[in-house]
Amino acid sequence: MTPRLRFAPSPTGQLHVGNARTALFNWLVARRWGGVFVLRVEDTDVERSTHASEAAILDDLRWLGLDWDEGPDIGGPVGPYRQSERQELYETAARGLMARGLAYRCFCSSEQLEADRQAALADGRPPKYAGRCRAIDPVEAEVRVTAGEPAAIRFLVPAGRAVTFDDVVRGPVTFQSEVIGDPVLIRSNGFPAYNFAVVIDDAAMEITHVIRGEDHISNTPRQLLLYEALEHQPPVFAHVPLVLGPDHAPLSKRHGATSVAEFRARGYLPEALVNYLALLGWSPGEGEEIVGARELTRRFDVSAVSHSAAVFDIAKLAWMNRHYMKEASPARLAGLALPDFVAAGLLRETRTAREYVQSILPIAVGSVDRLEEIPDRVEAVFRWDAETAAALVAAEPAADRVLHAMAAFATHAEACGLLLDRDAFRGLAGRVRQETGLKGRELFHPMRVMLTGAESGPELDLIVPAIDRAASLPAGDTRVPVVPCHARARAVVDRLRAVVAGREDHR
Ligand code: GLU
Repeated sequence: MTPRLRFAPSPTGQLHVGNARTALFNWLVARRWGGVFVLRVEDTDVERSTHASEAAILDDLRWLGLDWDEGPDIGGPVGPYRQSERQELYETAARGLMARGLAYRCFCSSEQLEADRQAALADGRPPKYAGRCRAIDPVEAEVRVTAGEPAAIRFLVPAGRAVTFDDVVRGPVTFQSEVIGDPVLIRSNGFPAYNFAVVIDDAAMEITHVIRGEDHISNTPRQLLLYEALEHQPPVFAHVPLVLGPDHAPLSKRHGATSVAEFRARGYLPEALVNYLALLGWSPGEGEEIVGARELTRRFDVSAVSHSAAVFDIAKLAWMNRHYMKEASPARLAGLALPDFVAAGLLRETRTAREYVQSILPIAVGSVDRLEEIPDRVEAVFRWDAETAAALVAAEPAADRVLHAMAAFATHAEACGLLLDRDAFRGLAGRVRQETGLKGRELFHPMRVMLTGAESGPELDLIVPAIDRAASLPAGDTRVPVVPCHARARAVVDRLRAVVAGREDHR
């Protein structure tokens, strides 16, 4: 039998990384076994479900590279793949169960149910449905429904049953049917409840394995009793531990980014997130961390997922992202990083600007964790002002010797013209050293301050060519005027002369 797995998101918000991990685990198992990966949208919560959320979830899954074989956008043999389009199936199945005496109409109002709940809690009893409507004669119930009285349909949980299943992750699990209140199948508004729709759909879609979060484990006995009532073989279940924050509370907004969209916007690569999520609960082996998607589809084993909680470690994800940024092709990385330059108000979205970003990647990759941090790393290219730079150089020790060296630099740089590439810069610095006798930090520190306006930053022989290449970009590409190195040097030297002369006057 072909394994069939599914991811069943509710489109009520962004795709949470915990759910993305659930999707990934199902996808990995489907791909490893040559099975089918189904995407089903669970949009029966009409108040909270939106088309925008569905579209965003599909987009995030695509971005992660989790492709599906059947789904709402591409259809498939057992569709439709949106629960809102499967309403009739649920109604028919619920009627079938009622006809067999396995389900019944419930007329309890929400106020009544809430009062029951409070009373149970006050008595120290588990707050389960009291079964008040079980005794209503089905014929009478139909008369009341026909007369327009709102009613839900509930499943009749058999008494005295031990519901047992062998969870792939947690081993044997048993629930006593006494603790399970009769679950609602169809709400009084006509929409199916989760526990019912999920069983009807997993059965109709011939799902063989369900991997999902541990928060669903208490739903599983209800679902198993429904499979039994429907005379359908249940799937194999694997409940994976929840993803927690560093404080061991479920990962939520207050821990920072929680949605795939946020990680994407902050400049994490999908392959880094996929690798990281796969390791939340599963381990490829002692000391092994970097495992790409292709290899994961060969090695991932859901039965080896740990039952202890997985703590989300942002530092580890950052480390992985840094690794994958180094692995990524520069052309792709440039395409992904350009929007961050645009957002920072530095560049425009053009081909030459993208090529420029590609050319400066060696300055940033390896020293930043995320794409979003790249513009900051090369800020000196775009943001420089003569006053600040000159004031910093003037504060250097031996300002007059420094002035002499910087003036030589300015003269030679002007002679070189606009494009100081790496070799030209090195040659030029060598000449200044020879002519002035200044060397090492004494020479290069003021030069750095003069050209970048900062005390520290990337290697000079990388940043200098980056400045001059940016200064020679087509006018429309940059959104701030980029001052070339020779002009930076000249402007600083002119100011410095004034400062040094002023100091001499004071002697
Ligand atoms: N729509 C449910 C959820 O997002 C699916 C649960 C399940 O996999 O059964 O939690």
